[in-house]
Amino acid sequence: MKMRKLSALLLATVMTASVLTGCGSAEAPATSSTPESSKTAAESSSETSSEAESATEFAPDVQAIIDRGVLRVGVKNAVLGFGYQDELTGEYSGLEIELAKKIAEYLGVDYEFTAVTAATRTELLDSGDIDCVLATFTITEERKKSWDFTTPYYTDYVTVLVENSSGITSLADLVDKKVGVSSGSTSAKSLTKAMIEGGFIDGSAFDADTFDAATWTTGISFQQYDDYPTISTALSAGEVDAFCVDKSILAVYNTDSRSYIADKFSPQEYGIATTKDSGFSTLCEELITGWLADGTIDALIAENGIE
Ligand code: GLU
Repeated sequence: MKMRKLSALLLATVMTASVLTGCGSAEAPATSSTPESSKTAAESSSETSSEAESATEFAPDVQAIIDRGVLRVGVKNAVLGFGYQDELTGEYSGLEIELAKKIAEYLGVDYEFTAVTAATRTELLDSGDIDCVLATFTITEERKKSWDFTTPYYTDYVTVLVENSSGITSLADLVDKKVGVSSGSTSAKSLTKAMIEGGFIDGSAFDADTFDAATWTTGISFQQYDDYPTISTALSAGEVDAFCVDKSILAVYNTDSRSYIADKFSPQEYGIATTKDSGFSTLCEELITGWLADGTIDALIAENGIE
């Protein structure tokens, strides 16, 4: 039943795509729109196929997006291959951008990107400023209590970037060092856990449920920042000894004078986050599982130069 519905959804997608062919998309720094994408999936499907008509049975919150005519998506703007905004053209690119565009295309609506950080993405979702987050957002049990996440579309790992001059090459070398992390990220907890599991620091005080990067000082400490460029500057200035986050995010900060440590740890499964128990959660899950099953996501991963 689910698959039948999905094939109807995909049929509607194909039809919507053909309606949109040639329209193009003008992208501006924070938003983008396809002014000519005026046909909704509902309009497209009702014209030609009774099977596709099931695609018109949208949940009220999904119908509200269609009526608004714009899907509002929180994305990263400095993560190459995932969500990256060209400074000159303002154009966004990456796997998460393409997935967002495909969801908008399926709905037959324009899309609008809002650049988010680990610190701002959930506030913007909770306030209703955005409909979903497609921003290297790791699925965790704790986060699942507050938001819905789709099946993961990508799995990354956490690692650590250092200045070559520091001589730090492994987790063992990070003992008693200060590490820059983003507030609102999983990074500090992941690194502390990896240090404990490696036997480099004492884990007797560690509790995954109550861990706080601001107060942890056993064998390693953390400085939290609002965004990644600021951590990179702090690393150059020697304010922190290392910069820890997902490898995909670190890539743009890996200059000639810097290196990753040898270890990568703590798999980070990225999912689309939506408002808990919303109709849009169900729709995103159906679309993502369909695109995982039919090879669309594998193809997008390859096209965007990520592994
Ligand atoms: N992916 C990690 C997280 O969700 C790192 C932070 C980020 O995405 O910016 O916590």
